[in-house]
Amino acid sequence: MKRLKPPASPTTAVHGMDDDPVVQGLLVTISQKRLRPGAKLGEDRLAEAFGTTRIHIRQALAHLASRHVVTQIPNRGAFIHTPTWEEAQAIFAARRIIEAAAVEAAIDRLDDRAIEALNAHAAREAADSKNDRWSSLALTADFHVLIAELSGNPVLLEIARGLILRTSLAIATFETPGSHDCSPEAHPDIADLIIARDKVGALAALSHHLGEMEARIRPAGAVADPNDIGAILKDVGIKPMRRRQSHV
Ligand SMILES: [Zn+2]
Repeated sequence: MKRLKPPASPTTAVHGMDDDPVVQGLLVTISQKRLRPGAKLGEDRLAEAFGTTRIHIRQALAHLASRHVVTQIPNRGAFIHTPTWEEAQAIFAARRIIEAAAVEAAIDRLDDRAIEALNAHAAREAADSKNDRWSSLALTADFHVLIAELSGNPVLLEIARGLILRTSLAIATFETPGSHDCSPEAHPDIADLIIARDKVGALAALSHHLGEMEARIRPAGAVADPNDIGAILKDVGIKPMRRRQSHV
């Protein structure tokens, strides 16, 4: 494996760490839920796996800690951050505000290049729906990053990226069995409404989509008892059928 070049100096490290290969590598594994909340991040093993120095790994972990993705515990080491239930709810509340602002800004500055990017993304998602679960999870998260990019506001994009990543941790911590980050069917609708410059419609579709995502998580201990078939059916959205009138 090619050895990674550690960041040149502490000064350049602060600004360039988002693009650092160790940071990027860990973010990808988290967004794809391969590394779960609470997983230990041993410096030696990471240095070996990434083919770099422990100092470089330590800088990457410190950066991820500043982004609320890693928790560093003195004398115990670094772990993938486990959000609290309150934090998970706050992340969704913040996403609603940030992503609504992103959708409005994206519509305001919509041009041919943006339309092309939205259509290209929809085509990639449609093609990817046949592929494995891991790559489609990463790709569906990308849709939200794309909208933030199309807002043209780099600060908003940075905040959105952080929130989307923290959503992956929140969902991994509190997901009900069988849940997904995004229902990808919602994305083409949102994209079409942005392309049609329909702000009201796009905001309503986004709000509905984020609501569905949030509905998939439950506070610890609130997940249905595995023996309570009624509660489990309700969880997955199966409603009781109306009793048929008896004709006899
Ligand atoms: Zn989505």
